[in-house]
Amino acid sequence: MTIYEKYGLKEVINASGKMTILGVSKVAKSVQETQAMAGDCFFEMSELVERTGAYIAELLAVEEAVIVASASAGIAQSIAAVIGQGDRYHLYHPYDNRFERREIVMPKGHNVDYGTAVEVMIAQGGGQLVEAGYANMCSTSHLEMMITPQTAAILYIKSHHTVQKSMLTVSEAAQVAKKHGLPLIVDAAAEEELTSYYHQGADLVIYSGAKAIEGPSSGLVLGRKPFVEWIRLQSKGMGRSMKIGKDNILGLTQALENFVKEGSESGQSIKERLLPFVAELNQFPELTAAIIQDGAGRDIYRAEVRVQGKVTAAEVIDQLKSQSPAIYTRDYRGNNGIIEFDVRAVTKQEMAKIIQRLQVILGE
Ligand SMILES: *Cc1c(COP(=O)(O)O)cnc(C)c1O
Repeated sequence: MTIYEKYGLKEVINASGKMTILGVSKVAKSVQETQAMAGDCFFEMSELVERTGAYIAELLAVEEAVIVASASAGIAQSIAAVIGQGDRYHLYHPYDNRFERREIVMPKGHNVDYGTAVEVMIAQGGGQLVEAGYANMCSTSHLEMMITPQTAAILYIKSHHTVQKSMLTVSEAAQVAKKHGLPLIVDAAAEEELTSYYHQGADLVIYSGAKAIEGPSSGLVLGRKPFVEWIRLQSKGMGRSMKIGKDNILGLTQALENFVKEGSESGQSIKERLLPFVAELNQFPELTAAIIQDGAGRDIYRAEVRVQGKVTAAEVIDQLKSQSPAIYTRDYRGNNGIIEFDVRAVTKQEMAKIIQRLQVILGE
């Protein structure tokens, strides 16, 4: 019996990209095997966390690293780390007003909702959000004017979710941080660049284990001492409620090793897989399909499908989701008559199922 049958779950074809609500990525066999092996062993957990962190730091040639439960846990614990700075009293009293430097300065256009809002994680870590700049822009001077003696850190969110135009760069934010003797925390949860923000001057950089890295549910924080050590310390404080299991610690380490060796699927390979799919989509009189590059210029290609006819794009999107397998697309341009298919996690067989469903929906 499959998991789908046992629990009466809908099977999902994920043509939307790396979506947390759908379980993010498929995990490689070598990662699954490492997870299973870990399940069979005991470890001194503090040693496991330290040694895997050191291993990853060496692999990526950065000062320090630590595996955490998720990127969100990484944000909350980074905030707690820069406020408490290793203080033992802070571990047990993370919100005590004995700690006055709590302000976290972040560009306003970075306060996005990725499933929860960035500000929720800042608050969980004990930070007080101070937004810099405006809804459409943030310069170095916008950032700088919000710094006070109560500022604990600058937080920068590197993501396609954020406002992109008229936004200072990571290295500009790092210059401001350095000038004021403040740490810079970069949330790069879904990014593929594992070391460039660190080299641009970030003290802590946060990744989601299950997004670009395609690991199990987990997070990674890399950066400089003593900041990473202060994060590790959080496991004796608020980090306890964000504990990660041994299987996922070792699974992420394996996934990182794979990612460094092989990278993610190349744009060329995605395009080759898309070609026959797009040709089939173009057989429908109501659909006009083309291969387009990712809007943020990443090496990712998708099928862009314009819908003209009796059914609207929004209706097609809804109907694709309505049965099992439920087919999820990138639907944010649905109102403009466009559906996008992101096939990074879609197999050839699943593409055939998508075409079959479209035949039913479009009545052919
Ligand atoms: C996905 C995401 C997160 C959260 O990652 P989790 O590992 O799911 O907690 C945080 N920030 C950004 C910008 C994200 O895209």
